[in-house]
Amino acid sequence: MSRSSDSILDAVVVGGGPAGLNAALVLGRARRRVLLIDAGEPRNAASHAMHGFLSRDGLDPAELRRLGCCELKTYSNVQMASGLVEDVTMTVDGFDVLSSVGDVVSTRKLLLAVGIRDALPRIAGLAPLYGRSVFHCPYCDGWEVRDQPIAVLGDGSSAFRQALLLLSWSGDVVLCTHGSSGLQPEDRAQLVKEGIPVCEKRIARLRGRHGQLDCIVFEDGSSLERRVLFFHGATELSSSLPAKMGCVLTAAGRIQIDETGRTSVAGVYAAGDAARRTGQHPATQVILSAASGALAAIALHQELMQEDVGLPPVLLGAASVGTQSAEKDSQPGTHPAIRSSGIVQGVGR
Ligand SMILES: Cc1cc2nc3c(=O)[nH]c(=O)nc-3n(C[C@H](O)[C@H](O)[C@H](O)COP(=O)(O)OP(=O)(O)OC[C@H]3O[C@@H](n4cnc5c(N)ncnc54)[C@H](O)[C@@H]3O)c2cc1C
Repeated sequence: MSRSSDSILDAVVVGGGPAGLNAALVLGRARRRVLLIDAGEPRNAASHAMHGFLSRDGLDPAELRRLGCCELKTYSNVQMASGLVEDVTMTVDGFDVLSSVGDVVSTRKLLLAVGIRDALPRIAGLAPLYGRSVFHCPYCDGWEVRDQPIAVLGDGSSAFRQALLLLSWSGDVVLCTHGSSGLQPEDRAQLVKEGIPVCEKRIARLRGRHGQLDCIVFEDGSSLERRVLFFHGATELSSSLPAKMGCVLTAAGRIQIDETGRTSVAGVYAAGDAARRTGQHPATQVILSAASGALAAIALHQELMQEDVGLPPVLLGAASVGTQSAEKDSQPGTHPAIRSSGIVQGVGR
């Protein structure tokens, strides 16, 4: 293994989606030496238009990333590399980062912005329609398909919620559960009351052309004309690196962070879809990811300044919403879930 440089970087950002790019921007502007390494497989690769981002509504997500990279290139203290971070080892000074780029890079801090992956429902014909007429997020794509015949695919309480939610975008919503609905009787009654039929027939395939859904074909040979399908599917972290490094994960499999973006491993921060605070709303959006990247970068930078010149840490806690009971025994700024893991600041290295 060769070492790229004897001098240690201030931060390596893993992942170059909105969270990682914004984090690198903030750290670069704070005059820190930063390397961003990105494997180039963003979650929204199937999407052609990104919505809900002020001043960028409708932009191709690839164009957002290109613009972000262009801005970073103007900071000579920020480097970018295409590749996969494969392993990280802890050192006395911080971390050694091994990636497919080749050399081992030494850094004081690490910021994980690795994103998540969506598991597509295993239904024939669905994958080619994904991102064009099959979606998972009405806040991202609902406006464009307003008033159209919509199917919601899923079962149980999450499908119940999504079917009701979609009434905001169309009055013609059918819940297709692809087998037993798993609905509570009162939930089924509410769907019926709101004019949402529940179809429990098993789906054989989706039929469509050029990305446009035409109809859902059932195993019994019948079909249902629909222009749009929303599903609520499982997701997982895009990388096994956080778990490998010992970062505490949430019950939903995200990297547990505190209010500032610190993980349970000292010196490691996380942001974007991959990271969650306790009590955080599960919504995932580009603007939220970018914002969390900025916040984690600020906190990371201030930890560097604390080490370098004794900058006192920001005291958090009093302004946090819904953490009253936790605050009683709280060390300021440290999330209870992370404290209870016993691996706060310096321990766990
Ligand atoms: C089909 C679809 C449409 C969407 N539409 C919208 C929309 O209209 N508006 C909106 O606001 N949101 C939308 N979203 C959600 C949005 O895509 C995410 O919230 C956002 O991309 C999350 O940003 P991120 O930086 O956390 O992760 P990502 O954008 O997923 O970026 C993570 C990056 O990290 C890289 N990476 C992972 N592991 C490693 C590693 N070990 N080493 C190096 N690099 C690594 C990945 O390759 C990837 O490039 C959509 C999502 C999907 C799936």
